[in-house]
Amino acid sequence: MSFKNFPMVSRVIYGRGSFNQLDEIISPKRQGRDAPFIYFIDDVFKGNHWLTSRVSLSYKDKIIYVPTEEEPKTSQIDQIVEDIILEFSEHPSGIIGIGGGIVLDIAKAVSIMLTNEGESKDYQGWDLVKNPAIYHVGIPTISGTGAEVSRTTILTGPERKLGINSDYTPFDQVILDPELTKDVPKDQWFFTGMDCFVHSIESLNGTFLNAFSQSYGEKAFEICKEVFLEDYLSEEEAQDKLMMASWHGGMSIAYSQVGVAHAMSYGLGYLLGIKHGVGNCIVFDHLEAFYPEGVKLFKQMKEKHNIVLPSDVCKDLDQHQLDIMIDVALGLEPLWENAIGKNWKSKITRQTLQDLYLKM
Ligand code: NAD
Ligand code: ZN
Repeated sequence: MSFKNFPMVSRVIYGRGSFNQLDEIISPKRQGRDAPFIYFIDDVFKGNHWLTSRVSLSYKDKIIYVPTEEEPKTSQIDQIVEDIILEFSEHPSGIIGIGGGIVLDIAKAVSIMLTNEGESKDYQGWDLVKNPAIYHVGIPTISGTGAEVSRTTILTGPERKLGINSDYTPFDQVILDPELTKDVPKDQWFFTGMDCFVHSIESLNGTFLNAFSQSYGEKAFEICKEVFLEDYLSEEEAQDKLMMASWHGGMSIAYSQVGVAHAMSYGLGYLLGIKHGVGNCIVFDHLEAFYPEGVKLFKQMKEKHNIVLPSDVCKDLDQHQLDIMIDVALGLEPLWENAIGKNWKSKITRQTLQDLYLKM
């Protein structure tokens, strides 16, 4: 048996206000006047002096504000990379992503595609990236996805929604400053936070589970229960804890996999453009048969925070559209193998998925 030798984020700084040290951290990485730092910042922060005044631009450094209505597409990454190559005479010194999962994934993907030929769709999958990426820094401003720690960047391509999973994907540097999450709207806080909860459930209840994943998964699970079901945490404590839950949830799936909710949520995302966090919630709400305990807790959390999920999202779909979603979901074989076991194909049929989708 051979074991996978995974890279991890090589440096991480944690603490409220640690974002102030951004400039000091990245300055030594500057390759010269013509090699800029390029900042991808969630456009929710446009005009937000509190945050942007701490991003100091020198020489040819540039801020690109990223809209987050839609999740990243391979064509979008290719366009950004082409623009950067045309605009600057040298490769950037670094790519810095400041935002939620969308912005973090864009930063990762752009840093990879600047040093690897061809189109980003060619790298969707496992271990297809050949060259090390440009130095890249991740600064989450909302907690839950684990994108700050993971080995993947999830992109929607012409044929599928799938990550670029590679040893070069993880950030070289992460800044975990929970204060940055203070203005996240309530519903979004819940949806993205539930991504972490679902990561922990899918990892802990998967057949790939091992002590490594379990140790992280249990911690993420425990913190999520505290943050979403208990009343004794202050707002700041809850922000601090959820940021660490996200980290642990991400670490937990590094050495295992996600499961049914993610597989089916990718289907909703691909066909209907439903975003990851809310998509996971829509699906997970109907997965009692797979994760009875987790779904019970999820429903309690939903109720406690008065969250109303979109419903009937698949009601008007025709058979062809349902088939597209089912194809996307079933194509994610490692997820099903983790969730159900090696013989999953004998247990999960297209009809199983169709019946579930029609309930959502
Ligand atoms: P997101 O990036 O869409 O952000 C959600 C919303 O919150 C956006 O409208 C954003 O503007 C807003 N927001 C973020 N920070 C804010 C702040 N501090 N104040 C106010 N508003 C703020 O959502 P997400 O749930 O963080 O990420 C989802 C994306 O992450 C998807 O594209 C998904 O595929 C990806 N993802 C990646 C991984 C990975 O390991 N790479 C894992 C899970 C999900
Ligand atoms: Zn997820």
